[in-house]
Amino acid sequence: MRRFFVAGNWKMNETIAEAEALVKAMLPELEKYESVDKAVCPSYLAVPSVAGLCKGSSLKVGAQNVFWEESGAYTAEVAPKMVAELCDYVIVGHSERRKYFGETDETVNRRLKAALGAGLLVIVCVGETLEENEAGQTEAVVTRQLRQGLADITPEQADSITIAYEPVWAIGTGRAATPEDANHVHKDVIRPLLVEMFGKERAESMRIQYGGSIKPNNAAELFAMSDIDGGLVGGASLKADSFVEIIKAAAMVTIIIEESEA
Ligand code: PEP
Repeated sequence: MRRFFVAGNWKMNETIAEAEALVKAMLPELEKYESVDKAVCPSYLAVPSVAGLCKGSSLKVGAQNVFWEESGAYTAEVAPKMVAELCDYVIVGHSERRKYFGETDETVNRRLKAALGAGLLVIVCVGETLEENEAGQTEAVVTRQLRQGLADITPEQADSITIAYEPVWAIGTGRAATPEDANHVHKDVIRPLLVEMFGKERAESMRIQYGGSIKPNNAAELFAMSDIDGGLVGGASLKADSFVEIIKAAAMVTIIIEESEA
């Protein structure tokens, strides 16, 4: 059965008090949609409060980044085992990390390996910039990001990885990729590469999220595509009602798929 995974990336938004209020507002509604895996990723500082409020619920908590060393003189960094004390998930390789903080495919790979080593489930973000898209380089860029970002990952470890395809030009712009264009990258670029790296069975069960201006009004048509297995949601995850609507869309598409397969 297809099970969608939708995660909210709160980025550098929400103080601890705001994060608590936001999660309190969405949690009772989100609990209605058991068929969808869901997570929110607050700032590190808000993680303890949010994790406390989500304890025992179906809403999981993730961090937005993690360092690769286990401990030591790395001022301001957070180690994988620290994240794993409170979070199930961590995001690595978000385009904002790549753009503003020097993240490379190699450092994504180091973070990924360290996070997996600490038992975390990892969302690995890939996606081309507008210039790369316009130059027809989408496939080459995403392929490179995945080959290098997922280097040395075993098929067993792949079970703990979600890929988020986030075209950079669609993030925070209100201009989402069309369902067809996003699905093309998922189905014809990312999935075949995962098959090559981890084998067909594993690659088919790995989830590939789409990210980039998902809103309540476009979520269902994106999730209805064959290879879009959920979403990484930025702006629309900062409002309880819009995040709930997106989770609801995933639940509705799940029902439609089940009925069509019955
Ligand atoms: C994101 O932050 O990963 C993202 C997709 O943002 P938005 O939904 O706001 O485009």
